[in-house]
Amino acid sequence: MDLDFELRPPQAPAGPLLAVEDLHVEFRTRDGVVNAVNGVSWEVHAGETFALLGESGSGKSVSAQAVMGILDTPPAYVTRGAVKFAGEDVLAMPEQRRRRLRGQRIAMVFQDALTALNPTFTVGWQIAEMLRIHRGSTRSEARRRAVELLDRVHIPAAADRLSDYPHEFSGGMRQRVMIAMALALDPAVLIADEPTTALDVTVQAQILELLADLQAEQQMALVLITHDLGVVAEVADRIAVMYAGRIVETAPAARLFRQPAHPYTEGLLASVPRVSSQGGPLEPIGGAPPNLARIPPGCAFHPRCGYRRPVCRAEEPPLYRVGPDRGSACHFYQEVLDDRG
Ligand code: SF4
Repeated sequence: MDLDFELRPPQAPAGPLLAVEDLHVEFRTRDGVVNAVNGVSWEVHAGETFALLGESGSGKSVSAQAVMGILDTPPAYVTRGAVKFAGEDVLAMPEQRRRRLRGQRIAMVFQDALTALNPTFTVGWQIAEMLRIHRGSTRSEARRRAVELLDRVHIPAAADRLSDYPHEFSGGMRQRVMIAMALALDPAVLIADEPTTALDVTVQAQILELLADLQAEQQMALVLITHDLGVVAEVADRIAVMYAGRIVETAPAARLFRQPAHPYTEGLLASVPRVSSQGGPLEPIGGAPPNLARIPPGCAFHPRCGYRRPVCRAEEPPLYRVGPDRGSACHFYQEVLDDRG
């Protein structure tokens, strides 16, 4: 049986390639239950770059780890929801098929390449081993493909670097190696979790450009997880903003930057320097993100929100439909929009 063929959708699906529906993830700790992801839904289509944006602890990485099946249970439990690849529920699949799908059709790049790569093997061996296991490649085929992949992510003298260990690469080059490994099996979806956080600004721009180029070449769906608005502005087509384990705003990137529909997004935009702000003062959001073991009642953002009214503490806002392609979980989204209108 050709497992690779079996895992490929017979044709590009009309709907999203990957869809997360009403996902709930909790961590059961000695100090109580931490509600890390609370009813999150998002989707990404072939050829699209979708960004999950939020501060650390907002639940964005946990939701991606749930998609990849790499959460440690215990303490993490997916308590509700579905993860659909080409319409098929990944969480309901037999374990073996789920593992193959996640390795081959959905790949992930992490923030810290040094810990994600095995320090005791050369990068050439690590790439080749994956091809031998998943594709049944011979030694020479795997080596040839490993050179091709390193070349593709613009590692100079790729053939000579196969015998180097991860620590012999610079931070930016290591990130390229990890992207090469993620691409080795031609994934349809690439999830990149803070892929440029540890890098300086110039290298960060190069890695983002590389991801964008590779995505365009292969029509991959790219899910970018980041706390960095600058990164999102560079490459995202669509954005979902997360706060306290929920999506509080979702919109096409250009519209979200032009006219946010949620006070938290508005606060994020006001807290970073922009060319158009012409030296005006930056305004950080007051307060701190909530402890996920004790999420405030009603709207979780209410303790930090300048728009709040009594209803905000009493009623959790649903994700109101603000237009054909955007939503805001704020009772007073119209006021926020009007402020920027
Ligand atoms: Fe602020 Fe209320 Fe909107 Fe929450 S629902 S973001 S507290 S105005």
